[in-house]
Amino acid sequence: MHTKCDQKSCASCAGDKKMSKEEIIGCKMSRIKHKLLVMSGKGGVGKSSVATYLALSLANHGYRVGLLDVDLHGPSIPRMFGIHGVLNITAEREILPHEYNANLKIVSIECMLEDCDSAIIWRGPLKHGVIAQFLADCRWGDLDFLVIDSPPGTGDEPLSVSKLIPDAKAVIVTTPQEVALADVRKSINFCRKVDMEIVGLVENMSGLFCPHCNEFIPIFRTGGGLKTSDKMKVPFLGELPFDPKVVEGGDRGVPVLESEPASPFAAAVGEFTRAVLSRLPAGEKLEASNE
Ligand code: ADP
Ligand code: MG
Repeated sequence: MHTKCDQKSCASCAGDKKMSKEEIIGCKMSRIKHKLLVMSGKGGVGKSSVATYLALSLANHGYRVGLLDVDLHGPSIPRMFGIHGVLNITAEREILPHEYNANLKIVSIECMLEDCDSAIIWRGPLKHGVIAQFLADCRWGDLDFLVIDSPPGTGDEPLSVSKLIPDAKAVIVTTPQEVALADVRKSINFCRKVDMEIVGLVENMSGLFCPHCNEFIPIFRTGGGLKTSDKMKVPFLGELPFDPKVVEGGDRGVPVLESEPASPFAAAVGEFTRAVLSRLPAGEKLEASNE
């Protein structure tokens, strides 16, 4: 791993164009304490939502957080935060992240496109190049966490991240039903194959709190995520309920943690975040300003 960049004698920070992309990435990543790759075996399980809420919740705890969307085929992070427009590029050709609030910076491939609806066809090796370029070009500065949203499955993007950021750790998202759980086992095996540490497994859309009577309804049954994590020997990070406000918030660009901070969903996000923090190795625990 790259030793921590001191910024003064660093050729990368001085804009040395002869440095390889990998060296520049090593320099930039050395200034970020924890890199979390949010993964799922299957699309539509709420991976982008989990990445969004984990990043926002960590930022609300007082940590300095970056959120990077490397879902080249379906970037959805800007929509969830109601972010529009292209990102600014510095004279040194670095990408300046969107500052959502004092603690949360966001970069998405979508922010680099003039037309959000354009369909891009990325070939495999090109994808690796784009992700490497992204990681090399973003000016995050010093962060406690970089949360990375990748597309579903165990394809090019998570593989690129595992190679370019060797100390990235996986947060795996699933839903309770058996089809999703079969896919999650593939994600776990992928991480083991590429030597990526797994922070744990979180079960999303675990059940619904009835908006009328507040009774809990287990739509897809619950407990599958816990059983899978037991069987596969990965830590269980908790359950996030299905909340129609998450869909509405995602479409309106107003995250539920802001519109409904007292909801059962927001409480579950809080517990999930604490579970993630508790999985950090003892020596790497962070001091957050709001804790
Ligand atoms: P993925 O990134 O895995 O494809 P998304 O995060 O885009 O999934 O979620 C897919 C859809 O499900 C979105 O409309 C999102 O708002 C919704 N969704 C995700 N998690 C929840 C939840 N816990 N409750 C309600 N809707 C959710
Ligand atoms: Mg997504």
